[in-house]
Amino acid sequence: MEVPKSTTPTNKGDTMATYYVNKNEQSNGDHEVHKDGCLHGAERHNRLYLGEHAACQTAVAQAKRTYPTANGCYYCSPACNTG
Ligand SMILES: [Zn+2]
Repeated sequence: MEVPKSTTPTNKGDTMATYYVNKNEQSNGDHEVHKDGCLHGAERHNRLYLGEHAACQTAVAQAKRTYPTANGCYYCSPACNTG
């Protein structure tokens, strides 16, 4: 008698996270994009909400509409950090 295995409740790669971009540019002119809760993120009044994103790539793309120099945070979004 076979018992169906329980499926994993969450789909990997489908996890949404809240992103925001720092309104203040870095010394190199970049506007860093962070996940909510990042220790290296901007102060609440210095950040622009980007919405919920499944990946940093779309969050950075969203940020670039406002700041063409947007770049992923080295710490929370390394896949989108271009150095
Ligand atoms: Zn960050």
